[in-house]
Order: sequence, then structure tokens, then C-alpha cells
Amino acid sequence: MSIMKYLAFKDVKSLLNSPKKIVIIPHYNPDGDAIGSALGLYHYFIQKKHKTSIIVPNDYPKFLKWLTGTSVIINFESDVEKAKQILFSADLIFTVDFNALHRIGDMKSILESNTAPKIMIDHHQQPEDYAAYMYSDVEMGSTSEMIYHFINRIGDSDLLNKSIAEALYTGIVTDTASFRFPKTTPTTHNVVAKLMNCGINHSEIHNKIYDSNSFDRIKLLGIALNNLKIITQHNAAYITLSQSELDSCNYQKGDTEGLVNYGLSIKGIKLAAIFIENKSEGIVKISFRSKGNFDVNKFSRHHFNGGGHKNAAGGKSDLSLEKIVSKFEFLLNDNGTSLSK
Ligand code: 5GP
Ligand code: MN
Repeated sequence: MSIMKYLAFKDVKSLLNSPKKIVIIPHYNPDGDAIGSALGLYHYFIQKKHKTSIIVPNDYPKFLKWLTGTSVIINFESDVEKAKQILFSADLIFTVDFNALHRIGDMKSILESNTAPKIMIDHHQQPEDYAAYMYSDVEMGSTSEMIYHFINRIGDSDLLNKSIAEALYTGIVTDTASFRFPKTTPTTHNVVAKLMNCGINHSEIHNKIYDSNSFDRIKLLGIALNNLKIITQHNAAYITLSQSELDSCNYQKGDTEGLVNYGLSIKGIKLAAIFIENKSEGIVKISFRSKGNFDVNKFSRHHFNGGGHKNAAGGKSDLSLEKIVSKFEFLLNDNGTSLSK
């Protein structure tokens, strides 16, 4: 069952009745769902004659760059002045696929001081209260699916087109791990059926997302699998990747996407983690995935400055790789007291 909070669709519908200057913002390190939901909304709004911009806090993976509309995306990190100007004159700001302003990095303070009404569309747990209008539904498998419902609820399903469908399909496929995660519902498949009816080539989209590996990325996968460790007594698996290992494979953004799932693919493993060193940011980026009841959103929130969903969350740490692994093992050994928080 859908938990529809806060958003009065008729209010947003009337806001969108006359042409507006709209800015769409997805989260830092945008993934398939972040870019897919932003582009899906973009292709909807331009049909309604809104002057629409997308500003990403930083760059996004190459395997998403084929999507129609990516050429208009402004990267805040490399084009700060232009991004600030556009934000300054915005009438409405849509934030997609994140639940807290710290998820947009340095754009946070700019958004905090911006008086344009904000509309959050997101499926992450425990959303913050920064938006004037919230469409938050933690039961949803992807924000991209929510964009479909959003357009539908406003009464504009006749505006669905191939560009919207490609973007939303990409977001749904990537965030549900190709319809595998538990939050994939009959409704998800119904939505996908509607998207497929818009003339998208789903096989080609899968190829573009998953079969566009560089040789370097496959070598990195080899290193990751070689580094994979299992903690049998806790049904846990983890991978580490150091900066020098990444460098040895000419790391490009997106190359580590999905590696965490290999741990979870081992029979009996219920919790998987990957710890990826990022020397230029001085942090280690962490991803957690789980099966069943282990809540990685809580785990990451309490211990690794992160959050996300019950079965998929991220986090970060300024400890060394070695210390993070010790902390992780310590927390698992800690008899579940800290895990059940
Ligand atoms: P990933 O491991 O792929 O980076 O992230 C898994 C999920 O957790 C995604 O839905 C992502 O948006 C969310 N997530 C990743 N890092 C963070 C974080 O630092 N804080 C919060 N609240 N969510 C995160
Ligand atoms: Mn998402």
C-alpha cells in the first residue's frame, strides 16, 4: 500500500497551470534513478511550456549519458555561477530522489536561502521537512516510478512520450536491480507496461546501462572480487577498494556501481558492504545492501553518517579503510545491540 504524504496534487497542479521557471535537482553522485526521475520530469515540464533546468550537484556515470536531454544538464561543480544564476531566478524547485538537503553537498546552503517553493519527490526513509510540498512514499521502489504517478495524478498521462518513458524506465530498472528488489510491485510492472507502450526499446536500454563496460572496469571487478571477504558467523560479506587499486584501473565515475551486490549474491549472505577509498574527497564511500530484516538504513545512519532504505543504503567515513573494516567487524560482533537500534 502506498503511503501518500502531504502532497495535495491539486495544489501542485494549479502551481503548474501557468508557465514557470523550474529547476530540478537530484542528489550528489546521481545514479540511474536520480537522473531518470530528473529527466522524466524535465521532458514532462517542457511540454507544458515551463522553462526547465536540471542542476546536478556533481557529475554522473557515463552509462547514463545517452539519455535524451542530458545535454541540458548543468553540473554545479563545474559551472557554479551559471547554476547559481538559474537557481536565483527559479519560481519552483523540484528535488528528486533524496530526503535531506545534505544529500546535495555544497548546493545545500544555496537551497536553504532560496525562497522559491520546493517540491520533494522521493522514496527514502525519514524525509526532512525542507519542502513546501512533499510527495514522499517509502514503499516505492524508485523515484522514477513516483514521477509516473505524479504525472498521472496531475491528469497529464497523455503527455507521456518516448523521452519520458526511456528516462523513467532507466530509473526503475536501476533502482529495482532489474525488478529484483522486494519493492517491485504489480503496480511497478503496470507502470513499466505503460512506459513500454511509449515505444521504448527495453533491450537496448539494458545494453546501454549494463553492457557498456570498459575493459578497465572488468579488471576492477576482478580486484574487487579478489578482495571480497566473508564473515561467516554474521552471514556478511564485504569488499574494499583502495585509491591505488582504483587508479590502477583508470577509475571512472560509475565503475564501482553494483559491485556491492556480488557479496549479496553468495548463498546465505544477508549483509554486504563495499568500502571505496576516495583520496581527493578524503573519505571512504560506503554502500550497504541486505536481504531480509537487517536494516542498513538504520545501521548506516547510526554508524556511518549515511542512510537510504532498509535493504540498500550508503554512507561515508573519514577513517582509513583498515579502521572502517575493524569498526564494521566490531559492530557485527557487538551482539546486535547496536544493530537493532
Ligand atoms: P548507494 O549505496 O548506491 O550509494 O546508495 C544506496 C541508497 O542509499 C540510494 O538510494 C542512495 O540514494 C542512498 N544513500 C546513499 N548514500 C547516502 C547518504 O549518505 N545518506 C542518505 N540519507 N542516503 C544515502
Ligand atoms: Mn532512488
